[in-house]
Amino acid sequence: MNEVLKELGIDSRAVEAAQAVEPRLRPLFSEIERRESANQARVLAAFRKHRISAAHFMPTSGYGYDDMGRDTLDEVFADVFGTEAALVRPHFISGTHTLTVMLFSVLRPGDMLLSVTGDPYDTLIDVICGEEGGSLKEFGISYGKVDLKNDTFDYEKIEEALQNPKVRAVFVTRSKGYAWRESFSVEDMAKLAEFVRVRRSDVLILVDNCYGEFVGTEEPAFADLFAGSLIKNPGGGLAPSGGYIAGKAEYVRLAADRLTAPGLGLHGGANFGVMKDLYLGFFLAPHVVAEAVKCAVFCAALMEKLGYDVCPRPADMRSDIIEAIRFGSAERVIAFCKGLQAASPIDSHVSPEPWAMPGYADAVIMAAGAFTQGSSIEISADGPIRPPYVAYMQGGLTYESGKLAILKAASEVLKVE
Ligand SMILES: *Cc1c(COP(=O)(O)O)cnc(C)c1O
Repeated sequence: MNEVLKELGIDSRAVEAAQAVEPRLRPLFSEIERRESANQARVLAAFRKHRISAAHFMPTSGYGYDDMGRDTLDEVFADVFGTEAALVRPHFISGTHTLTVMLFSVLRPGDMLLSVTGDPYDTLIDVICGEEGGSLKEFGISYGKVDLKNDTFDYEKIEEALQNPKVRAVFVTRSKGYAWRESFSVEDMAKLAEFVRVRRSDVLILVDNCYGEFVGTEEPAFADLFAGSLIKNPGGGLAPSGGYIAGKAEYVRLAADRLTAPGLGLHGGANFGVMKDLYLGFFLAPHVVAEAVKCAVFCAALMEKLGYDVCPRPADMRSDIIEAIRFGSAERVIAFCKGLQAASPIDSHVSPEPWAMPGYADAVIMAAGAFTQGSSIEISADGPIRPPYVAYMQGGLTYESGKLAILKAASEVLKVE
């Protein structure tokens, strides 16, 4: 076997399995590349339309009034995502923060938020129903949810729930998060939005778009607002921090008022010199996301070949970059994450352990050997330590580096089998 692979500690059984599956992935990769081309063309068109130049990369400080780089990046995102407006800021500290701003910007005391994809992402539970810290609940905003039925929208129950006049917004999580199902395509979500609007034209549609950007060729522009993290897909691996909220102009303005202060809205916020990385990251994002999706497809094919159930399966429809592998034991989840970390470019020498992360219900193990701390467009894996012991793998800035990390992760699993 190749010396480099041996030095990395890659098991010959993993290499053989990879050699068996890789030729079959070519047609799938061609489809991924077709989407990448369409997305790249849209991004390039927006850069040309807005005449992006070095002047847009100038650092600003203080209040950040008249920050041309910041204001134009908002327009570039809005054009690429097909929305009226967007708020793109390094001041959002994470996806959770961005989604929190989205929720607080449009909900008012007495309103009800209705999640129609079961409970939202783990870290949003405290935001919505926490007993302290200024949750929606503490502000008198109630929460209702409709669980999925056969892994899709339960239209009957949604119709029932919409009869409550308090419902002000319907919340849709595009990605599967820590669930074993397909993520929702933009088309499916658009149908749901239509169903809601026909019954309640006064109800807003809000989408958690994390992990979804550029996986297909459209974003959920039908929504009143959708949001995501810049240390996932749309940051292209280069954004040092941040998030975006996009959608209808009047609600994007409210989101800006919530991030800053009522009345300050879109007009303040120094850029601290990160604009070039935000522009370059967004320019690279269609390619980086395509590489990450290829890593997910490779991981699916390899782990399936090694005898594990995976979701989605290699040729299934994808609407996010996540690959879930059902290991059936905590030991194998831990081995997979440790292996992935050991073949990451940063912190390859440290070994992740399960821990009680703030915002998560169970102990979680996270492999994150990333240039940007916690960035999950870079190769990463995590899993809550609870049955049925599923690991979630995502990212990979380049297919070749992601593939090595996945081979190493599989090798560590083979060791504990
Ligand atoms: C990552 C993620 C979040 C939260 O983002 P953080 O940056 O981890 O706070 C919310 N929803 C979904 C679907 C996510 O994937």
